[in-house]
Amino acid sequence: MCGIVGVFNNTEAANFAYLGLYALQHRGQESASIVSVEHNGTSNLRAFHAEKGMGLVAQVFKPEVLARLPGNAAIGHTRYSTTGDSNLLNAQPLLAETNKGRFALAHNGNLVNAEGWRKELEWRGSIFQTTTDTEVINHLIALSRKGNFTEALIDALRQIEGAYSIVLLTQSEFFAARDPRGFRPLVLGQAGESWIVASETCAFDLIGATYVREIEPGEIVRISQNGLESVKFAQAVKQQCIFEHVYFSRPDSVVFGRSVYRTREQLGRLLAQQHPTPEAEIVVPVPDSGVPAAIGYAMESGTPFRMGLIRNHYVGRTFIEPKQSIRDFGTKLKLNPVRELLRDKSVVLVDDSIVRGTTSKKIVRMVWEAGAREVHMRISCPPTIKSCQYGIDTPTSEELIAAHRSEEEIRAFIGADSLHYLSLVNLRSAVQPGEHGFCDECYSGRSSLVRIEG
Ligand code: 5GP
Ligand code: MG
Repeated sequence: MCGIVGVFNNTEAANFAYLGLYALQHRGQESASIVSVEHNGTSNLRAFHAEKGMGLVAQVFKPEVLARLPGNAAIGHTRYSTTGDSNLLNAQPLLAETNKGRFALAHNGNLVNAEGWRKELEWRGSIFQTTTDTEVINHLIALSRKGNFTEALIDALRQIEGAYSIVLLTQSEFFAARDPRGFRPLVLGQAGESWIVASETCAFDLIGATYVREIEPGEIVRISQNGLESVKFAQAVKQQCIFEHVYFSRPDSVVFGRSVYRTREQLGRLLAQQHPTPEAEIVVPVPDSGVPAAIGYAMESGTPFRMGLIRNHYVGRTFIEPKQSIRDFGTKLKLNPVRELLRDKSVVLVDDSIVRGTTSKKIVRMVWEAGAREVHMRISCPPTIKSCQYGIDTPTSEELIAAHRSEEEIRAFIGADSLHYLSLVNLRSAVQPGEHGFCDECYSGRSSLVRIEG
């Protein structure tokens, strides 16, 4: 996963890109980078300015670093590696010097045919600088025989498969593109005379930009001093990632044209209808990701909502673990029970998903140890049975607990009195009333990659 942002025609482009990345921090915490350039209507070779660093956005971009990013256009990226190593070399945007000019590109998603392309291109003599799948796109643009940049970009995009939301900066133009299935989100916004593109609308709220629309699946938006232009490079067959709504996106974002918060609350309501827990006295979320679904569950069931677990939001990347081992130390660092609320209570614990099951086991134990009388686990999505090849960092199927264990076995493993998941039918009905167009391969196990002709 990753968060991407682009700012065009703004005297404070890098500052806006920084704020956009700050709002998108949840999409990737490994590295943060911004590339800026001065666009002034001509296409003379001008210097691109690049600043990259490992770590969080606020750690990487100090005022003196942002001051080294002049220009009225910028793109940025926060990385959560799904392919390629986690190191500074792989931090995007990636810069390329080609016979179509210099450009910088940042990508969210995962290409499924990148390895094949990489081998092929290396045979033809390409020298790769990084180990990311993203760099294949740069090489394909460079190799294109098409004369102008837009055509070369189309040429490249038609040869890659999988998930890609992209922002790209040349010496005079700004591009945003989304793969024909629209796996990953990408939205267009406006702030005065400037255009902003971001993974999620929460970035617009911070910058003070207004949401205009989504970049459509199969669409390239090109923005220059001449204005905004839309190019369809492939027929759209929507297969948007349902997990963006279940877990990944921020609840205050509008993703795929729909409020993430509303989706999650509805998932909680449907979960309460499908798996009521009349014996329960309180509904407790696993914060933060389980909160909206727990609110929905509580409203639908009429059972009181209680913050029985409190999350510490200031857990950094490094901490000192005591020499004397403390059981579940990592989980305790993040979560602490409110014993006064949980003691002697029959509790419905609501979380958005179970992946490996290891965290859930520790959380259930924490609730028991706080004195709960009963613990009923409710999950606002179906069992995750298949790992994702489109950019969600799910583990291999050996590690996915639901891939090889029954619900009863998982219940026993996490140590709850009962465990129930939301059905796939209910999940689908919450995100796509009357409409298809979501990828739910991680739950259905059915491949969503149907061939699309350019
Ligand atoms: P598990 O019990 O599977 O070890 O952990 C479940 C918890 O992991 C849930 O609270 C869920 O919100 C969280 N989770 C689900 N998907 C992801 C992910 O892709 N990355 C991270 N960091 N957490 C996730
Ligand atoms: Mg969670």
